[in-house]
Amino acid sequence: QLYNQVQDLKGTIRVYCRVRPFLPGQSSRESAVDYIGENGNIMIVNPLKNGKEARKVFSFNKVFGSNVTQEQIYVDTQPLVRSVLDGYNVCIFAYGQTGSGKTYTMSGPDLTSEETWDIRNNSQLNGLNVPDASWIPVSSTQDVLDLMKIGHRNRAVGATALNERSSRSHSILTVHVYGKELVSGSILKGCLHLVDLAGSERVDKSEAVGERLKEAQHINRSLSALGDVISALAQKSPHVPYRNSKLTQVLQDSLGGHAKTLMFVHINPELNSIGETISTLKFAERVA
Ligand code: ADP
Ligand code: MG
Repeated sequence: QLYNQVQDLKGTIRVYCRVRPFLPGQSSRESAVDYIGENGNIMIVNPLKNGKEARKVFSFNKVFGSNVTQEQIYVDTQPLVRSVLDGYNVCIFAYGQTGSGKTYTMSGPDLTSEETWDIRNNSQLNGLNVPDASWIPVSSTQDVLDLMKIGHRNRAVGATALNERSSRSHSILTVHVYGKELVSGSILKGCLHLVDLAGSERVDKSEAVGERLKEAQHINRSLSALGDVISALAQKSPHVPYRNSKLTQVLQDSLGGHAKTLMFVHINPELNSIGETISTLKFAERVA
């Protein structure tokens, strides 16, 4: 309830930014992140060829530095997730280039199960046919975690390198919650969508050809369509262009209206990713 009050002051769209730590074995440790302020600011530093540096500040609802743990993220987002129990629809998106920590934020460090369960039933979501989607009843947290592992594995089907495949698909885990209010007996329905988006990196046209290029262009189009929808909602625009992508059509009931959205953008601290980092931060600023 407290979250709802805080939320109402700021509208229903929040944008968080998380900076991934440097990984063991990375040779260069020079960071593109100059500082992170208490108030949701992050300053990016870009060393120029002439020896000078360009600096730019981006502002969000919150910025989490590379030392922030999963537990801290959990504590911060728990009130939002809990509002599903009050009958809200909630969407949490993870956006960023491949390797920036999207899956880590959404699923934690150990999505490595060897379990397989080749679920393939035709499914209708929001009236749309999504061939690889499945509805599975769950009765415990462990059931949900097991399902997430299965989903993660399914994303990797047909790929030589796992990250290669998962970075080119969106993954949506939806939890539907039905509850009965003890006093009034009324039924509350809420749902939580955890959306681990495809990598946002622009694919170099000289490198990608044929199907791979088409797929990359398709991903970029669906991500910008998502950006358009969230930015229209953030600006309270009368027209929200849901119909421009399947992703936004599937999630339409949970974007806008009474629903709550959290866009979690991820950045990689390495200097050689600065181009992608800046375009990720610009995307996030547009929807904030
Ligand atoms: P993405 O899903 O965006 O492609 P991943 O979540 O797979 O990226 O992260 C890339 C690598 O960085 C993985 O090895 C992951 O374990 C590691 N990583 C990402 N975020 C963190 C973090 N906050 N702390 C520690 N390691 C992280
Ligand atoms: Mg991933």
